Amino acid sequence: MNMISNHPPTAELQAMDAAHHMHPFTDGDDLAAKGARIITRASGVTLTDSEGEEILDAMAGLWCVNVGYGRDSLAEVAARQMKELPYYNTFFQTSHVPVIALSRKLAELAPGDLNHVFYASGGSDANDTNVRLVRHYWAAKGKPEKTVIISRKNAYHGSTMAGASLGGMTGMHAQGGLPIPDIVHIGQPNWWAEGGEMSPEEFGRARARELEEKIAELGEDRVAAFIAEPIQGAGGVIIPPESYWPEIQRICDAHEILLIADEVICGFGRTGAMFGSLTFGIRPHIMTVAKGLSSGYAPIGASIVCDEVANTVAAAGDFNHGYTYSGHPVSCAVALENLRILEEEKLVENVATVTGPYLKEKWEQLADHPLVGEAVIRGFMASIALTPDKAARAPFAASAGTVGFICRDHCFSSNLVMRHVGDRMIIAPPLVLTKSDVDVLIDRAVQALDLTLTKIKEDGIYR
Ligand SMILES: *Cc1c(COP(=O)(O)O)cnc(C)c1O
Repeated sequence: MNMISNHPPTAELQAMDAAHHMHPFTDGDDLAAKGARIITRASGVTLTDSEGEEILDAMAGLWCVNVGYGRDSLAEVAARQMKELPYYNTFFQTSHVPVIALSRKLAELAPGDLNHVFYASGGSDANDTNVRLVRHYWAAKGKPEKTVIISRKNAYHGSTMAGASLGGMTGMHAQGGLPIPDIVHIGQPNWWAEGGEMSPEEFGRARARELEEKIAELGEDRVAAFIAEPIQGAGGVIIPPESYWPEIQRICDAHEILLIADEVICGFGRTGAMFGSLTFGIRPHIMTVAKGLSSGYAPIGASIVCDEVANTVAAAGDFNHGYTYSGHPVSCAVALENLRILEEEKLVENVATVTGPYLKEKWEQLADHPLVGEAVIRGFMASIALTPDKAARAPFAASAGTVGFICRDHCFSSNLVMRHVGDRMIIAPPLVLTKSDVDVLIDRAVQALDLTLTKIKEDGIYR
């Protein structure tokens, strides 16, 4: 047994966790009864738990550990920065070297004239910034009535009041009085679940045109912006039909509204390009970034803003907005080192041309499994739809997520982290995943799918 001696026994940790730690997005009583799995260490793509089990992390934590775990240089950069300047703020006309260096680097990496960076501590609060920024922008242009932000059902834009309002998760709107005013939602480009008899391309265009219909309904003089993830992540890795983004871009160009690409997941290599906007030919006015910006080694998020919006806001007096940790020096230093690793090790190119195509080949074969309807993938983001009837793209009779949850548990006990969203199973592995890691991932996924099929037949919920 590979027991680790420098922490209390697992059962004791679990009891303390249940007694004192409130978990995000978790049924507290259910977890307390089961006991949390306690992760103690990680290296590369592998987690180790308090029992010494090794787990393949096909979710890169929460979609963020793009360069993999256990990078000494990130720890060293953080330690050095903490000794030199652990904290200083960027309010009141001060700045510091790491925030300046990172801002220039992000302006260089970001497409088009996205040349200006406003920092947050993560993706949610960066999207809060975006809400205030676009409304303030239009007010500065003499159009204070342009306040409505159009988003999409089943989108995820974070968990703060504005982030969760922008998001289109009904379960989140049901708690805490959301959405906040002047945020509306159109349909998502989820062909598998909602495309009916249409071809994916017809459906993609139809869903994009809902944006134009919504603008017409509200009046162009009321609409500030449209926000969307290039690929919906937490919604279940919903890859839009090829027709979708060009039509959205056409509509945004034809109307006087801002386009916000939420790149919190897609950014920094996940789709096989530096940004999802490059993968889909999107020309946003603002990009939200977080997660892969620091590979999760330090909390940081940002809005990367185009010249027109940044210059207008700069000329309009004080922007009365900011966070204590906007441009935190340690997070900025870590992010810079993370971007250096990403570039020097050519991790994005590797996803695009080597490991990505290999994962794609293997992942798409999962569609042959009796439980799997579609298996879709772009870069290192992939999902499978579980179904009792592939041809009809039918949901299970059991309530949505029942089978997905069973499958997730079988993955977890097979030492594979693969998440479920309803009855879709999703992965977003670290970009350092090798071909032999892919083989392990697929073997464990197939094993979990087999166990799931057996279990739901036993339980009488197959068909
Ligand atoms: C995770 C996520 C967020 C929220 O980021 P946090 O750092 O958790 O606040 C926002 N948008 C998208 C697309 C995300 O996936």
